[in-house]
Amino acid sequence: MAEIRTVGVIGAGQMGNGIAHVSALAGYEVVLTDVSEAALAKGLAAIEANMTRQVARQVITPDDLKAALKRIRPSADIKAHAASDLVIEAATEKRELKEQIFRAVSEVVPPHAFLATNTSSISITRLASVTDRPERFIGLHFMNPVPLMKLVEVIRGLNTDQETFETAITYAKRIGKTTTNAEDYPAFIVNRVLMPMINEAVYTLYEGVGNVESIDTAMRLGANHPMGPLQLADFIGLDTCLSIMQVLHDGLADTKYRPCPLLVKFVEAGWLGKKSGRGFYDYSGDHPVPTR
Ligand code: NAD
Repeated sequence: MAEIRTVGVIGAGQMGNGIAHVSALAGYEVVLTDVSEAALAKGLAAIEANMTRQVARQVITPDDLKAALKRIRPSADIKAHAASDLVIEAATEKRELKEQIFRAVSEVVPPHAFLATNTSSISITRLASVTDRPERFIGLHFMNPVPLMKLVEVIRGLNTDQETFETAITYAKRIGKTTTNAEDYPAFIVNRVLMPMINEAVYTLYEGVGNVESIDTAMRLGANHPMGPLQLADFIGLDTCLSIMQVLHDGLADTKYRPCPLLVKFVEAGWLGKKSGRGFYDYSGDHPVPTR
């Protein structure tokens, strides 16, 4: 089986910086790229802040932190992946954008390299088809926040070969994750089940069945969910939630997946949740305050 030494991560947002974080701590050399220098700086700052929190909680030592940060090489140039053995794409959830990234990265990485996507919903087979190596392409769907959440959903495309699958499982184990396998259908398992629930919570808000606080309290205490669905939507990012609903709606052609118009409106307003400072809650003060 191929040995992975250098892990490339494309996109330094909340997922990409988490994937870089856990890979560096597991001893991999990491190349982290983004189109935006500002996003790279923000991503690196998040990694350092999150590792510092792990040191305070004695999950890692200060030496682990220092060594892991040293292993991460940031770059705004996709050509930096020339020595990556496995590249994991974690850029914005837009199919055209991801296809463009995979076309570009295919030309840069060595022939033996594996390609993976952290997409929440887009067809693995389709993304694989734009590359020069659909058999060495796989879905590795991490959960947010990556350093804390145990699961990686592993999705094989139609062409993914056994070596790629086994290499992906070995990588996931080395970074301390548990894997589950899903087939390549819209939104796989986790989001196929989770996102319609979140979308339904937005409908209950839209129709006035409850306000933000009553809906989240109902599901936290009534269904024993650690977070209410609207708080969780803010945490995931409302643009990502909308995009996943659109993939479900288009891919399964069932009206039960139609995105709630209120979710659409929030995204149009740029209210993307926690990452933009406002969504179903306002994050500008010390505590999140419901916006409805
Ligand atoms: P994010 O908005 O925090 O980060 C996206 C990053 O991609 C940004 O830093 C942006 O600058 C960068 N980017 C945009 N275009 C790029 C390009 N051409 N090349 C390189 N970088 C580019 O989003 P996120 O929440 O980190 O989501 C990223 C991916 O992970 C999406 O596919 C999403 O569906 C998936 N995902 C998200 C969650 C979640 O809970 N947020 C969970 C699992 C998977």
